[in-house]
Amino acid sequence: MNSMIKKTLQGANLKQTKARIAVLSALEESKVPMDASEIHKQIQKSNSDVDLATIYRILEKFEASGIAHRVNLNKDRFHYELLSLPHHHHVVCKVCGKVQDIQDCDLSTVEQSVKENLGFAIQNHRLEFFGFCKNCS
Ligand SMILES: [Zn+2]
Ligand SMILES: [Zn+2]
Repeated sequence: MNSMIKKTLQGANLKQTKARIAVLSALEESKVPMDASEIHKQIQKSNSDVDLATIYRILEKFEASGIAHRVNLNKDRFHYELLSLPHHHHVVCKVCGKVQDIQDCDLSTVEQSVKENLGFAIQNHRLEFFGFCKNCS
């Protein structure tokens, strides 16, 4: 087990069970947010098995502990990704469903004007873009 996984679970006061380690490894290896069944498949590839219900429970626990968060990609299920990732956004293809990360974020002027107009202090934001990927457009 790599030390990042150990530290993450320790930091969240979660016992290092085989299932939690497997889910966390799958999320860590993934380049994009994953849903529970994608995590399930990924775990099976590494020759272990954690049943889907357990994965859902672990994801809820991870969310409550601030390890991962839900991403709404307008699909039938929620996707999850690690909160430790640097700030980024997603583009989602409406045809093939492909998800890609985008690192650019230039919303500081928007946040500034919200502050000026509403007196609202924004702490963070989430933003997903929907459209057509290179192959599908
Ligand atoms: Zn596409
Ligand atoms: Zn942003």
